[in-house]
Amino acid sequence: MTWLDRMTVTYVYPDYPSESCVYCGLFAQHQDHLLPRNWSGEADRRRVPTVPSCMECNSVFLGDLWIPDVQDRRKFCHKKIRSRYGSYLKKIMYGAEDLQEFGPQLRYAICEQMEMHEIVMSRLRWPVSPTFDADAWSHAWEMEKDYDYKDAPEWLKNEYLVDDSLAASLASG
Ligand SMILES: [Zn+2]
Repeated sequence: MTWLDRMTVTYVYPDYPSESCVYCGLFAQHQDHLLPRNWSGEADRRRVPTVPSCMECNSVFLGDLWIPDVQDRRKFCHKKIRSRYGSYLKKIMYGAEDLQEFGPQLRYAICEQMEMHEIVMSRLRWPVSPTFDADAWSHAWEMEKDYDYKDAPEWLKNEYLVDDSLAASLASG
């Protein structure tokens, strides 16, 4: 027996508001896993901490990237939003009076673009509160789980052990 035969792992679940994407504030339809699937494996997928996210941030921007930190993930998403919707950021904003000078079709198109401009801006300004992440993690709840070392998922072994030869000797018993 060594101290590595058993591992107690604490899983942490941050307490983010469930309705908003933690990265951009859009309506959250998904739960974004903070560790990619190829690291956690399927069996332990449900124990990987998740945060609420919109479809675009979750699957289009982040996919299966190894970026475990929420703030780093948000920076990455904002970069993607900027490059994908950058054209809307340049749009000139018109007041109600200016808009009357255009015909109905052009006015409609301009209004749509102004609306997109507002949406993109608000996604990039998210979160509004500077303590948004700190609050969520300070109210995080925890769940403990015991593992036999040999049964632990690979990503967990990697976090616990950098020395592969030691891991191999333990695994072989
Ligand atoms: Zn989002």
